Amino acid sequence: MAAPALCVQCGTQLAPTLLACPSCQRLVYSEELKRLATTAEQAAHAGDWTAALGGWRQALDLLPPDSSQHQIISARIAELSRVVDGGSSADATRHGSSKLAKGTAGASVVGALLLKFKFALVFVLTKAKLLLLGLTKGGTLFSMLLSAGAYWTMWGWKFAVGVVLSIYVHEMGHVQALQRYGIKATAPMFIPGIGAVIRLKQYPANPREDARVGLAGPLWGLGAALAAYAAYLATGLGVWGAIAHFGGWVNLFNLTPVWQLDGARGFRALTQAQRWGAVAVIALAWVVTKEGLLLLVLVAAAAAAGWGRAPQERDQPALLQYGFLVGVLSLLTRIGVPTVPR
Ligand SMILES: [Zn+2]
Ligand SMILES: [Zn+2]
Repeated sequence: MAAPALCVQCGTQLAPTLLACPSCQRLVYSEELKRLATTAEQAAHAGDWTAALGGWRQALDLLPPDSSQHQIISARIAELSRVVDGGSSADATRHGSSKLAKGTAGASVVGALLLKFKFALVFVLTKAKLLLLGLTKGGTLFSMLLSAGAYWTMWGWKFAVGVVLSIYVHEMGHVQALQRYGIKATAPMFIPGIGAVIRLKQYPANPREDARVGLAGPLWGLGAALAAYAAYLATGLGVWGAIAHFGGWVNLFNLTPVWQLDGARGFRALTQAQRWGAVAVIALAWVVTKEGLLLLVLVAAAAAAGWGRAPQERDQPALLQYGFLVGVLSLLTRIGVPTVPR
């Protein structure tokens, strides 16, 4: 879509970055906006909330931030992304009840169980597909190998591979959340020695989305660390314990509410009172585990609670997710790991 050189309404010359005509205020991309609105509404009508969100976000990029349309569409995005959060479970219940109504009592119980299993399976398969999808992207694979190389020299290859995979799973948590909300982003790029980054092509429309996307990384990362811990318990191999320990530590570090870290995104949705609640959880986790990293997280959280600009509207899921993550990840850092070989 090329930027028009002249306003179609008044003929004023338009700079390529303008979204509205400076003299008559006509929206430069009004035709494109109409098209996007129609597609988004159709998608919403068909129940494809993610596609609808994607359409509205594209429209948002073409509107001046101070326009009334921008406000209306932002509100629509906030509304739809709430539906995305609760939508799948509502859908599942609907399917379940219709199936149950058809069967006899005994069969319906089995049917309900099978249905649950099917949903679990579909869930696992979707995640697996997503992970493979990310791996096949050339840049991601290359930068991941580069990252693995840097760690290799320090820790030995088994640990290096485990660490890079843990970080990869963490990043795919963000990617999955972004996809769900229809937010465009790049595939994760691995930076040797630092971790990985995803560049967003669009931004979450509100603190709630920001928190969901931000905390999805540590949530998936926790899953990877717990899987490594389970492997450690099953096999007794020290390297699994080291990977789980590292996973606990690195995801906990990411929960520090400063700068661009995931914790800062999570905190964006918390009210001042909720932030103090998070501070209390972090302090408690420190009392229990004595993990030094928690002191850093605690100081940053207290600063964000005391001086940071907080929203008025409470976001209970964000606080629950944050507190849960701090608690379980702190416990993972207590895993006694045999000295890393070499
Ligand atoms: Zn004009
Ligand atoms: Zn992250």
